[in-house]
This record gives sequence, structure tokens and C-alpha cells, in this order.
Amino acid sequence: MRVEAEEGKQQAPDVAPRWPRRPSSVLAGSREGLAAVSAALTGAVGSALAIARWPTGPLRAGAPADVLAAAKAALGGDGIPEEGMGSEAALARLGRVLVEHGLHLSHAHAVAHLQPPPLAVAVAADALASASNASLDTYDSGPSAIAVERWLIAGLIELAGLGSSADGVLTPGGSLSNLMGLLLARDAAALRRGIDARKEGVSALPGPVVFCSELAHFSVHRACAALGLGEGAVRPVPTDSRRRMSPDALAAMLRELGPEHTPLAIIATAGTTDFGSVDPLPQIAAIAAEHGVWLHVDAAYGFGTLFSERLAPRLAGIELADSITLDLHKLGWQPAAASVLLVSDAKAFTALERQVAYLNPEDDSEAGYDGLLGRSLQTTRRPDAVKVAATLLAHGRRGLGDMVDTCHDLARHAEARIKAEPELELVAPAELTTVVFRYRTGEDPAREDEINGQLRRRLMETGVALIGRTAVRLDGPGSPERVCLKFTLLNPTTTPEELDALVNAVLAAGRACSPRYQKGAA
Ligand SMILES: *Cc1c(COP(=O)(O)O)cnc(C)c1O
Repeated sequence: MRVEAEEGKQQAPDVAPRWPRRPSSVLAGSREGLAAVSAALTGAVGSALAIARWPTGPLRAGAPADVLAAAKAALGGDGIPEEGMGSEAALARLGRVLVEHGLHLSHAHAVAHLQPPPLAVAVAADALASASNASLDTYDSGPSAIAVERWLIAGLIELAGLGSSADGVLTPGGSLSNLMGLLLARDAAALRRGIDARKEGVSALPGPVVFCSELAHFSVHRACAALGLGEGAVRPVPTDSRRRMSPDALAAMLRELGPEHTPLAIIATAGTTDFGSVDPLPQIAAIAAEHGVWLHVDAAYGFGTLFSERLAPRLAGIELADSITLDLHKLGWQPAAASVLLVSDAKAFTALERQVAYLNPEDDSEAGYDGLLGRSLQTTRRPDAVKVAATLLAHGRRGLGDMVDTCHDLARHAEARIKAEPELELVAPAELTTVVFRYRTGEDPAREDEINGQLRRRLMETGVALIGRTAVRLDGPGSPERVCLKFTLLNPTTTPEELDALVNAVLAAGRACSPRYQKGAA
């Protein structure tokens, strides 16, 4: 007796199929489907957004639990509905959820993170890219997407000033680009010691260490953990008064390194997340070359300054890097993610190459039917290059450069205004597009910390502004960390007057949180 026969009772009844089951317009990739996408945005979603209650500030006022509960209620009942309501109603509903309960990055008072309001052209192109659902791993999953990414990578290589052996790949974020940069550095260092890290792992590598400034992004530490080096592999290098890595300190630390250690990489930051400070790249590159150590430049934030003629000189020396992280979803006005890892020598990607029977068989590759599988940790990979390419074609280098300059000028305006306010203390000047400061009450530092934290939450809860927060050692290394406030200015349509209004809102919130200014206080 056959097994299927015994289990026959459990099988679904054999119902005769009906064809076709769905109109072709439900699938975005077809001609009708693209028209349906476009109609949905201008039709049902458009009318829903027209009647939606747009918050007056950058976000809906309310305590977090209330905002989240209201958003969930607006989404509908619990669980997946048994029957659908149709695309138009679903999109209209989601549109309202996002508008009424979400975040408005294009509001002049949304200045919390390196999270820009994305350009309209990029969002439209991203929808097109989604509709194609092309993937970058193989030729037969998206030839045009491969061509677009190669075009973009070549352009970025030229902008960075890397040579003709350079290459690159898009990744899902700066954290991942840093991880990949470190992975390639690790495997290159292992190879120099005759170890194939791909096969053997890194346990055979004596005492791997990675040097970066004490202000480097935390993703460097996490990458070390993920790569099996342990966070203890990170050797933080002291910074100077302008928050840049000290090349002398770096050189001394490298000199003191014994043979029981393997220096895998020096990671210079071009644009620290809080301060926008740029490590001295030419000096660091010279030290890296002297010691034969891989130089990775984390330019996740700062790379976009290369679009600006005025600010590009700050990144001089980036062309000396072995690998570079850059995020165009920061100074590039892309919807996330649009991160790139560039390498000065395409051969570095050998560490990632794989031959897979169902993806890139050798004879296909030899015949030119090859994709970008060998440059990535991903297999299926979104065509994120499409939105960036559309942006660069639409606005050109100069268009983006103007946006960078405007945001830098806004940061300098904020800096001047903060300096002039007796209740505010400027903590770090505007290097790129951020300004770090602190609200002063004259009370003890711990109490001031509390008030700075409170005033930021108050601005959020009232829906008036969304500003950043960080912790800074105000009195140099070893001194206690103090709560500071931060403006990250990435909206080039903001006016100086709107920025003044933001500073006024900070002052008002500070006074409301500070007993000194409260009714009845002396
Ligand atoms: C933002 C940032 C990162 C991380 O990038 P994600 O895209 O958020 O993963 C890494 N390094 C620096 C300096 C950054 O500012």
C-alpha cells in the first residue's frame, strides 16, 4: 500500500482550478501594474492624505505608549484579517497611520539623527526599483540593476579619488559596510600570514587588534564581536581638542605592539556621528603604509561632503584608503538604505567569492552571464543603486553639493545662535552639519544632566521638536560624561528663522523643566 493513499483523508479535496484568478494589475512589474501603483498613489492614497490630520510639528504629540496605541488602533483590529479590504482601502489606511502618527523628517524641527528627509526623485525611483524586484546576485535576476550599480560604483570611485583597480558594492547600511570592510581587512591580514581565513577561521591569527579613534562608531566594536575577534580587539586611540584621532598616539600604539599581536586594520572616521570631526587622513594613511596595516575610512556620515566644492578638501587623503564606508542615506538624501563599501583593490573581494551551482556556474560566468554575488554577504540584494542613480542624474554633483553647503551653513547659524544664548553652552562647533550643546541652569552637573534629558523628552511629547541627545566628556579624557543636546541639520529647505524658532523652543522647554524658572521659584 502506498503512503499517500493512507494519508488520503488529510489531503485537500481536488477542486478544478479556474483561470485566470487575478487581474494582471495586481502585480507591480507589468505595464498595467506600474499604472496601478501610480494610480494608487495619486488616487486613494492621495485623497486619504489630503484629509489626514497632519501634525503641526515633526511628530504627533503624546506619551510614547499613547502614540503607539493610537497608531495601532488606526491600523485596525488585532491580527491578520480573514478577508482583505482591497488595495486602495489598505493603502489609504496605512497612509493615514504613517502621516498622523509618524515622523515628519521634512519638518524644520526634526533634527535628531543622521536621517534626512529623502528626495522625491529618490523615493519615486525606489518605487520603480521595488516594482522591478530585480536582484544583484546573478545576471539573470536583474541585468539592468547590475548595470546601474556598476555605473554608480564607478562614479563614487572617481569621487573618492581611488585608482583604476578599485571596486565597490552596495550594502544595507554603514554598520554592514564597516563589518565587510573589517572582514576583508581580517582575511587580507590572515593571508599575509599564510592563513586562509575563509577555510580555517581566525583562531590561528595571533592577537588580532583593530585601531580606531575613541569616538569611532559603535558598529566597529560590534563588527569585531561578529567577526570572532571580540570587542577586546578594539584599541581606542585618543583624540585631540577637535575630536580627531591623534596620529602620534596611533603611531606610538603601533610601535609598542609586540609580535604576539596582529594589527588587522586602522579605522579612521571621516565625520564622527556626533561632531562631524574628520580624523587626519593623510597622516593616518602614512602610518598605515609604514606598518603595512589596512586602512578603512568610515565616511558613513562625511562622504557626502565630497559633493561640495567648499567642503570636499576636508576629506583629502580618503583616496589613500584600502576600504571606505559611505552612507548616501545620510548626506545624500536617500531613503534607507543606500550604503556603499568601496575597496581600492577589487581583489579584496576574493574573500567573499563563492561558486554556486544554481546561481553562477563556471561556464555561465565565463560566457559573461555573471552577477555581483561575489562582492556581498547577501545573496538576494535590493537594487538600491536605482534611487541613487536617479538622484545623481536629476540633481548632479552640484545639486547635492549645494544641499550639503546649505546644511553646513544652517549648522553654523545654529552654532552662532547657541553661542549668543546665556542659557546654552556650545559643546562642539559645526564641523559638518551637527552642533552639540547643553542647556545650563547653574545647578549641579547631575541635575543639569537630568534637565537636558527631560527637556528633549518634553519637546517630543509636546510634538514641538525632535532633537538629538548624546553624552560628552566636557573636560577631556577621563572626565565624566555629561548629557548633551544635538542638532543634526539635514533639511536644506530649512530657513535660519525656523532654526531660531527651534532654539527658542529648546529654551522654552528648558525653562519649563527647570525649577529656577517655574512659578513660585525665587
Ligand atoms: C551612521 C554611522 C554608521 C552606521 O551606519 P548605518 O547605516 O546606520 O548602519 C557608521 N559609522 C558612522 C560614522 C556613522 O555616522
